[in-house]
Amino acid sequence: CKNVTKIYGVKGSDNKTIALDKLSLEVQSGEFVGIMGPSGSGKSTLLSAMGGIININSGEILLNNKNIENLSQNEIALFRRNHMGFVFQDFNLMDGLTIKENVALPLILNKEEGKKIENKINEIMKFFSIEDIKDKYPWNVSGGQQQRAAIARAIIHKPQILFADEPTGNIDSKASEEIMTSFKHINEEKGGTILMVTHDPLAASYCNRITFIRDGTIFSELDRKGDQKSFY
Ligand code: ADP
Ligand code: ADP
Repeated sequence: CKNVTKIYGVKGSDNKTIALDKLSLEVQSGEFVGIMGPSGSGKSTLLSAMGGIININSGEILLNNKNIENLSQNEIALFRRNHMGFVFQDFNLMDGLTIKENVALPLILNKEEGKKIENKINEIMKFFSIEDIKDKYPWNVSGGQQQRAAIARAIIHKPQILFADEPTGNIDSKASEEIMTSFKHINEEKGGTILMVTHDPLAASYCNRITFIRDGTIFSELDRKGDQKSFY
């Protein structure tokens, strides 16, 4: 993310909000990066911009040195589906589908073959300890289980990067620890790259690096060794 600026305009008025102010952030393959900062500092906007969900006013969003801004809407949608995974605070599972069907959805959309889907589903359900609830519906399982299913769905197609927006925001602390342990396993055992927005210090403690943002710009970074870099 290079020098990215995002300005929101309120339609029919002159009010403008600079949500991202020439922000640059580089995430290397295999990193687990946390983004912290006060409410309104631009965290969700940053994830949406990096995930190609919103258009930016200036700057560049690059994935594997490819500028995603040069893609058409269709190409971006396809790119997101093939190379990115998303996890949100409110799980976003489909109520009409079982846990297993929810997890399988990305593979079904990609028209993968039935037997392959079955194998991948079984493996990932085991990895997240949700085999026992595979035939239940989202409303019949706990918040922690719903979130584990949502994470399984987000990584089943092996995305190059997983974006998570307050993934522990709606679950209790014990379930939060389980979720964060899952993220850590994805990162360490599967080599997954994760970018996570969080308010939760416990969740942030699992990251390799934490970026602090304020008023749409990065003001400091903390790495695993405790080295702090200040940008002011
Ligand atoms: P644009 O891209 O044209 O700047 P958006 O699609 O981002 O506009 O937003 C559409 C409208 O939604 C805006 O006009 C704004 O009034 C409103 N809106 C949505 N979310 C927020 C928010 N968090 N704060 C203020 N206004 C918001
Ligand atoms: P955070 O995730 O850190 O709480 P956001 O990225 O949601 O911050 O918001 C950054 C700023 O942009 C805030 O001032 C917010 O009100 C504003 N904002 C967010 N979305 C919109 C929108 N769709 N339209 C107008 N303003 C918005």
